[in-house]
Amino acid sequence: MHRNFKNIDKVCYGKGAFNQLDDILEPKRVENDNFMVFIVDNYFKGKELESRVPLHDEDLIFFEDVDPHEPTTQQIDRLRDTILAEKGMPSGVIGIGGGSIMDIAKALSLMVHNEGSSSLYQGLNLVKNPGIYHLGVPTTSGTGAECSMTAVLTGPVKKLGLKCDWTVFNQVILDPELTASVPRNQWFYTGMDCFIHCIESESGIFYNDFSRAYGDQALKLCRDVFVGENSGQNSENDEKLMIASLFGGLSLTYSEVGACHAFSYGLSYVFGMRHGYANCIAFNHLEEFYGKAVQEFKDMVAFHKIDLPQNISAGWSDEEISKMADVAYHLPHMWTHAMGHDWEKKLTKEYLIEVYRRM
Ligand code: NAD
Ligand code: ZN
Repeated sequence: MHRNFKNIDKVCYGKGAFNQLDDILEPKRVENDNFMVFIVDNYFKGKELESRVPLHDEDLIFFEDVDPHEPTTQQIDRLRDTILAEKGMPSGVIGIGGGSIMDIAKALSLMVHNEGSSSLYQGLNLVKNPGIYHLGVPTTSGTGAECSMTAVLTGPVKKLGLKCDWTVFNQVILDPELTASVPRNQWFYTGMDCFIHCIESESGIFYNDFSRAYGDQALKLCRDVFVGENSGQNSENDEKLMIASLFGGLSLTYSEVGACHAFSYGLSYVFGMRHGYANCIAFNHLEEFYGKAVQEFKDMVAFHKIDLPQNISAGWSDEEISKMADVAYHLPHMWTHAMGHDWEKKLTKEYLIEVYRRM
């Protein structure tokens, strides 16, 4: 069976594209109870961008704090219940922020039409009813959440996405100017999420010409942004990284993430580590999977003087490491891609524990 991927309906890209948000929303305002819900990263509260959000009198705006925790099922349920009780059914949900906020917007757009806790729907195609119109405005570059069919949530028992065709945004606005304020370490960690997506995409059995076409181009852009003299955070590179992020995500739609993301999920689940940062912690020790790309990564860390702590496993208990190994093991699609359909014959929990101890 070949994949049959639902893409984003519409993409508006370029510096200043955010100014078109009000016009883009206008025709959608006739739907449901005629109001929009804006979910905005709390970082922007009181900043210039807040005043540029095209908020109409009837609209609702929520400034969500994504520090220190990535989105949770509880957070989605609370937002959904508040909105439905206060105002009814929104015309649409607009997420303005990094991967965390985009995932909140995606999940919320589904949950207004699905009963019970969002934790019931963590998995593939478990969502019963289509959601409402939703639009994403990334303010970081790298996650690919702008185009993916999943909204990753941490629930009471697992970190797993609400994954289905209806999760994909109806519209994204890619305005590279919005990423200019991302702090350098965060810029690197989230950017490396994209670099790692491309490396993982090409390092497994699901890789094909579709994923290669997007992945190669995304990697080339990543290298412009992170390697060599002209690398670094600047306006030209912000434009490149935003497209790298999108293409890295599209490369994955026909391929898969692999070992690094499996280890990363364990780190995020047990220690609440942010996704991009957890990827970097893991990728640094995965030469047997990713060969010279790991040295390239280490060189980028050194060149940009990024904080990447060593020997953090010294402070982890046996129980914590064991729990992470369990979380990492139970991601069969990632291991199938990385090691083949017979991965269960090759991968042991002891090996996962050994790798965590290297970190
Ligand atoms: P993030 O959204 O968690 O934000 C990281 C930090 O950057 C936060 O402190 C935030 O306030 C701040 N920030 C965001 N934009 C800023 C800006 N323009 N200026 C200054 N600060 C800014 O980080 P992220 O790396 O973009 O996303 C990680 C999240 O995305 C995780 O929750 C992860 O699970 C999810 N994710 C989802 C997918 C998907 O396909 N759905 C893919 C990868 C990651
Ligand atoms: Zn990722």
